[in-house]
Amino acid sequence: MGLLSEGSPLSWPETKALAAHVQRHGIEQFISQFNRLKERRGDSLKWGDEVEYMVVRLDRRARTARLALRSAELLDQLQATERRHPDAAPSLWRPEYGAYMVEGTPGQPYGSLISFFNTVESNMRARRQEVEALLQPDEILLSITSFPRLGCGTFTEPPCRPTPGSGSSRSLFIPEEVIFPAHPRFATLTRNIRERRGKKVAINMPVLVDERTPRPFVEDLARLGDDGSSQAAALPDHVYMDAMAFGMGCCCLQITFQAENLLEARRLYDQLNPLCPILLALTAASPIHRGMLLATDCRWDVIAMSCDCRTDEERGLTPLRQDRFVIPKSRYGSTDSYISECGRPYNDVELVMDPALFGRLAESGIDDLLAGHVAHLFIREPISLFSEKVQQDDAVDMDHFENIQSTNWQTMRFKPPPAGSNIGWRVEFRPCEVQLTDFENAAIVCFVVLLTRVILSYKLNFLIPISKVDENMRRAHKKDAVLTEKFWFRSDFLCDGSPCVDAETEYSELTVNEIFNGKGDEFPGLVPLVTHYLNAVNIDADTRCTMGQYLQLIRRRASGELQTTASWIRRFVAGHADYARDSVVPESTAFDLLVACQEVTAGRRAEPTLLGRLGSRTDNHLPAAILRTPSLYKQV
Ligand code: GLU
Ligand code: MG
Repeated sequence: MGLLSEGSPLSWPETKALAAHVQRHGIEQFISQFNRLKERRGDSLKWGDEVEYMVVRLDRRARTARLALRSAELLDQLQATERRHPDAAPSLWRPEYGAYMVEGTPGQPYGSLISFFNTVESNMRARRQEVEALLQPDEILLSITSFPRLGCGTFTEPPCRPTPGSGSSRSLFIPEEVIFPAHPRFATLTRNIRERRGKKVAINMPVLVDERTPRPFVEDLARLGDDGSSQAAALPDHVYMDAMAFGMGCCCLQITFQAENLLEARRLYDQLNPLCPILLALTAASPIHRGMLLATDCRWDVIAMSCDCRTDEERGLTPLRQDRFVIPKSRYGSTDSYISECGRPYNDVELVMDPALFGRLAESGIDDLLAGHVAHLFIREPISLFSEKVQQDDAVDMDHFENIQSTNWQTMRFKPPPAGSNIGWRVEFRPCEVQLTDFENAAIVCFVVLLTRVILSYKLNFLIPISKVDENMRRAHKKDAVLTEKFWFRSDFLCDGSPCVDAETEYSELTVNEIFNGKGDEFPGLVPLVTHYLNAVNIDADTRCTMGQYLQLIRRRASGELQTTASWIRRFVAGHADYARDSVVPESTAFDLLVACQEVTAGRRAEPTLLGRLGSRTDNHLPAAILRTPSLYKQV
């Protein structure tokens, strides 16, 4: 989730007092790193995925499923190999926001050889098994996006109680113990977001109105110890949540790529940006939050509201007096600008930025597109700062830059090379919801990486105005968006990166099916484009077979022939005997759902509407030839 500085966290007033210091020095650090590395080139494609998981404890007799607050303990064991042999660990494990979450990445990045695509799934499987080997007999590991009954009564193991009058979130629903305890970053972020905002965060998501859902749907929050502030913040016909955990306690699937050079990184950042809402809709997997069915299918807005540290002034609710800017979005949000020259005509949303910081970036030779991007990120204040990290050497350290960068949780992240490393310019693709099986997650990861190859090799251009990408983000959230929504999409995609002028006619509204599978003469479809690429490159039969299965999954999900995870979950709940058609997901239903999820993950339950008969037909190992040539493996 970001920078894990060691040390003692400062209070919010102390952090606030140092905000300008962090911003100023963060910019200097970026400038010095940029100038040192702007000409760096020749980096090979390297890439990796991040999968986030939840540990759940089942009580099969009572039919309850609870979040097992064990990740600190598990991580200690999971990281043992890495501690001993930092370069030889098969997987790398990191904490995440929840005390029940772990995040795993491959021990080494994948390289540019096509055969690596055939190893992703087995790597994910091995990762999962590493955790599973450490679980108690009644615990399971799930790659689910939202825990259905997070915040409902007793939902943790050990059982804990919310403390609305104290603690970092002051939530009516979320006990303090839910936040990862072994690193202060997570509770500090929670407290500082609340204190900066001046009140608790307020997440309001539209409830799914079912036959017996009370109308208007209004909950009595006083019985949970509300002092009136939550009731006032809760909207009718919405599910109200009041803590960072509701958002950052969700799991996702992320992909990071190293580009050949700075220009390529900027290009990839831009080209993948319009694909974010589309992939969000396709991977939608979280229709239940706080024990209620929602009218939305994905997590993004929940997290955005859960991290919204803006004050009333910044949200435009009261005139600016103390604060400097009205800021349209939360710091968890979709990106606001393109950063490559090709993107310039499509930057149609005014970027809020600090003119002094922009000026400083510009005067040091950074062009306006990149300077604008960075100055825009830096309208945010640090929301977690460690006393040991305040004084830094801007010529070598990057912590102040990373501090702000890593708490701008956007759909894409543009990543300068980290200080003191041999890593190149990178971009991170962050919208996808995590799927139940390693097969699906590998399919999505491989598809996105292949798309980057297609975009670069064929010089494709998917840019549309940023305002349209924002509009697509809204549409992506809707229930069954894959089937029912249309998305702004550029079908005139062969324009090769030279600035295009006639923006109006270049894009139109397409369904997800048309985007992935094609629409007559207008657009060939992303899947056929990837297939075309795969046919053109040299690829072994085994990898081709696996990719065929992955592309089938994407194709059929997009066409509606297979369901999204979100719609599978909805159907499961709707068909459950204990569900009373009132939008509430009872504990027994959630239990059966999570047991079913686990069976799907383990391949013990066939779900033809979710997966068809698709699955890997190979054991997904690196071809023996590569394994016999360690230099080849090492190089990537
Ligand atoms: N769990 C967060 C999400 O679902 C992302 C945290 C991170 O940046 O790693 O988007
Ligand atoms: Mg993470």
